[in-house]
Amino acid sequence: MCDLSETELLDRIFPLLPPGRATLLGPGDDAAVVAAPDGRFVVTTDVLVEDRHFRRRWSSGYDVGVRAAVQNLADVAAMGAVPTALVVSLVVPGTAELSWVTGLARGLAEACAPVGATVVGGDLSGGDSLVVAVTAHGDLEGRDPVTRSGARAGDVVAHAGVLGVSAAGLALLDAGAAAPGAGAPGAGGPTASFVAGYLRPGSPLAAGPAAASAGATAMLDVSDGLLRDAGRLARASGVVLDLRAAALGPDLAALAPAARALGAGADGGGDAWTGMERAWVLSGGEDHGLLATFPPDAPLPAGFRPIGTVRAPDGSPHDDVRVTVDGAAPSTGPGWDHFGG
Ligand SMILES: [Mg+2]
Repeated sequence: MCDLSETELLDRIFPLLPPGRATLLGPGDDAAVVAAPDGRFVVTTDVLVEDRHFRRRWSSGYDVGVRAAVQNLADVAAMGAVPTALVVSLVVPGTAELSWVTGLARGLAEACAPVGATVVGGDLSGGDSLVVAVTAHGDLEGRDPVTRSGARAGDVVAHAGVLGVSAAGLALLDAGAAAPGAGAPGAGGPTASFVAGYLRPGSPLAAGPAAASAGATAMLDVSDGLLRDAGRLARASGVVLDLRAAALGPDLAALAPAARALGAGADGGGDAWTGMERAWVLSGGEDHGLLATFPPDAPLPAGFRPIGTVRAPDGSPHDDVRVTVDGAAPSTGPGWDHFGG
């Protein structure tokens, strides 16, 4: 790839980036111009570093493009905004294939397409390892931003998206229980959805603005695990979130095939609320679902399901924990430390 000039490389990339809904002037000039009809814009950034956030032997350029886009788009959606434009800075070692880079561009563009966003510009540099830095912008469309700090006692805790799927996929790859090809687009088999969910997470992006419109009092995307991110929201709001184990039952059940593939299923019909599935649901990250709180009388928007309630701190030791499951501090179980809960 080193034999291509930056201009030649950009000539291969630009055609892969369709114009977005808010693009007034796309790539090709010194800077892009993006509409901000609201008069404000939401902005966030995230960086992916090879061998820290992804491995090239597991993730194709396309996979990393989807992942880099989704983690930024989810942050925009979590504010209640509609993503509009991404700028992407790329550090590429000479060992990278051109197809890896064009795959990355395709992945970025495809992850943006459903919400009408696109990549409007960026920068390219050589370097020792692959680095993908994405900055995303979004439009609030006249709504107030939904922060982490607005949850009130009595609110309903709700989640949109999947829980634990990405962690299960990572565990399968890590253990050699699934090959990266198991998660290739269109692949079948019992582990396909988990590996795909790790390589190319989805995020219910439309649910963010819908939550804002429905009166969500607080919201964030679950990037570092349900307990950890719920704890962030609880601390920012000065409340305690009490999750209901029964509400997370379907999430546990959905992960059973992954646990079975690792030889650690739910003990032949035993209590699934122990073991790997629980660790994945409570502590697995990178699913990029949306966790939000709603006033008790607000109808939940499509995609959200109730998983708990907000209560005021009452002076009990649980106040420090900030997140309880059925009123108790979530106990650490198998796999817990591994996933950094
Ligand atoms: Mg986030």
